[in-house]
Amino acid sequence: MIKNPRLSHSISQISWSRLIDMIKYKASWYDKKCIQISKAFPSSKLCNKCGYKKEDLTLAIREWTCPECKTKHDRDINASINILNEAIRINNECTTGQVGI
Ligand SMILES: [Zn+2]
Repeated sequence: MIKNPRLSHSISQISWSRLIDMIKYKASWYDKKCIQISKAFPSSKLCNKCGYKKEDLTLAIREWTCPECKTKHDRDINASINILNEAIRINNECTTGQVGI
C-alpha cells in the first residue's frame, strides 16, 4: 500500500503520528519531556557551527562542506545536532518565557 501514491502519504502520516504518540507516552512514563520541532525546520541544510543554510542540498548529498566556516558535515549527524539545538531552544523559550534568536 505504501507504493500506491494515493495511499502512501496517508499511511506515512498515520505511522508518524503513531510513532510520535508512542514517544510522548514513553517520555511521560519516564517523567521526561518530549519536544516536537517544526516539520519545516531545515535540520539537514543548516550548518550546526555557523548557521549557514545550504539551499541546494539534495537527498543524494550525504556529506557537504560549509562554504562559510569550512566545517565538513555528515548529513545525518549534522541534522541530529541541529534538531537537538532546536529542541533546547524551544525548551528554553518554554521555561524562561523568552523568545530566542
Ligand atoms: Zn558553517
